[in-house]
Amino acid sequence: MARCELCGAELRGIAYRIVLDGAEMIVCARCARGKTVLGSIKIGVEPSRQTFKAKAPVKYNRRDTEEVIVEGYGEIIRQAREKMGLTRELLAVMVGEKESTIRRIESEQLEPPIELARKLEKVLKVKLVEVYEIGDEDYGGGSSEYELTLGDIAEFKD
Ligand SMILES: [Zn+2]
Repeated sequence: MARCELCGAELRGIAYRIVLDGAEMIVCARCARGKTVLGSIKIGVEPSRQTFKAKAPVKYNRRDTEEVIVEGYGEIIRQAREKMGLTRELLAVMVGEKESTIRRIESEQLEPPIELARKLEKVLKVKLVEVYEIGDEDYGGGSSEYELTLGDIAEFKD
């Protein structure tokens, strides 16, 4: 167990390397006060815990949800745009895209990226993005369908 070389107190958390009368010593925070401090030393801190904290995933939330463009988005966008009396060109300007991009989205030749869909939602006051929770039972049908497909492929090969 590390102890302060001056007062003998148990060192916990942070200890200090100081110079006293030309000799280097490891002391507690209280004894380091007013002395020449060379640096600090961490004591008794589990390194694994520190690493975990530093690497906490930032995108954690993205793992539980999936954002999907709604079906019929082209028609939804076109109708909302016309209702608002906007030309494709004007809508394109409002969301920072090319007119040709809007045209392709409205004809469903192009599915808008989520970011663009969000902008269109705001401008047109419509719902274009659905958020699914992964593992949600309502959405769970997809996985069994996938298994079925794999089975079909296996059968086909035989
Ligand atoms: Zn001390």
